Amino acid sequence: MVRADSSRTKTGQGAPVRSTAEPVVAVTGGSFGDNRTMLSVFSSPSRYTQGRNATASLAREMKTLGLYPPALIVAGGSAVRLLSQVWERTFAEAGFGYSVHAFGGECSFAEIERVSASARHSLAKVIVGAGGGKVLDTARAAASGLGLPVVNCPTVASSDAPCSALSVVYTEEGVFQEYRIYGRNPDLVLVDTEVIAQSPPRLLVAGMGDALATWFEAKTCAAGRVRNMRGGASTGSALALAELCYRTLLADGVQARRALELKAVTPALERLVEANTLLSGLGFESSGLAAAHAIHNGLTAAAGTHAYFHGEKVAFGVLVQLVLEGQSRERWREVLGFATSVGLPITLEQIGLRDLPRESLEQIAARATAPGETIHNEPFEVTSATVADAILAADAEGRAYSSTL
Ligand SMILES: [Zn+2]
Repeated sequence: MVRADSSRTKTGQGAPVRSTAEPVVAVTGGSFGDNRTMLSVFSSPSRYTQGRNATASLAREMKTLGLYPPALIVAGGSAVRLLSQVWERTFAEAGFGYSVHAFGGECSFAEIERVSASARHSLAKVIVGAGGGKVLDTARAAASGLGLPVVNCPTVASSDAPCSALSVVYTEEGVFQEYRIYGRNPDLVLVDTEVIAQSPPRLLVAGMGDALATWFEAKTCAAGRVRNMRGGASTGSALALAELCYRTLLADGVQARRALELKAVTPALERLVEANTLLSGLGFESSGLAAAHAIHNGLTAAAGTHAYFHGEKVAFGVLVQLVLEGQSRERWREVLGFATSVGLPITLEQIGLRDLPRESLEQIAARATAPGETIHNEPFEVTSATVADAILAADAEGRAYSSTL
């Protein structure tokens, strides 16, 4: 979920979902008839480890979980540059054999197969993904296909995908192809904040946009008792984590961004990275998605938005959800104040849609309200006409707020 040209979403709605070696368990969106029989499901990685220089503990953490060598590390360019020497030390200390597969640049069938072949060749017992979202997606896909455990080491905090149990697969040319949803979350998610601190501030801010949506969508799904991403009802725990996610953004977002601009690891950055990665990840997967992410999906239909990150488009989707749900002025001020303080977009122009033609608006609204989209988790009827109006109203709110700054 970190590419600028992102048609990625976190739901298989309206897109082909291919079954993998593991059973497909997640069904999202909509009410599913007899909710009295629906179980509550909370899903998470087996272990989440975060902190400055966490990579130095990677092999030890893996050993704790009973993950054994040899390991295959699927690594993006910056991961190789920043972490090669640390891997050498941590795996040597633990007596772990490992090899490195340089990521080919796209989470495609071909790359997943190359990683799988490399894992078979090296007799890997565990696959470690180290890099951005596509690297982690590829590692998860290959590991799932081979029935191996997987470790995710994100090098950016730009979305809440690292803790989740799905991959988005593209063609070699980068065109969206399908979602793969797995039965298990990663065995370990290890976040090295020293590495995150080297990433571009805009990516951290995009992650805040993704995380901004979590509580609003979670509340809507829990109140409507619709299915979460794992096919069950939400839990009080997931909802509490989603709310903590929101509170952490408000409390630490600005300071965390400043810290990242200095490439400094501070307590505020630590808390914010946890919110973007863990709290948001658990919140969305175990509570569900609603209007904000569906609006994101709609926005990807407009070419003008392709230069913007997933989380940036989701942030605007949050505003549209606030319109649809008739949220209070107080909430509007809070959300707009936060978004502008960290640099998230609040108008159509800020996501590349200045002077949006009516036809394009209708296209976005139609895509956002496609059958099975998570916008139908809202507790009222949503049509493409109401969404088109809500998009314009959200933009007007954003513009009005901007003019007061
Ligand atoms: Zn998202």
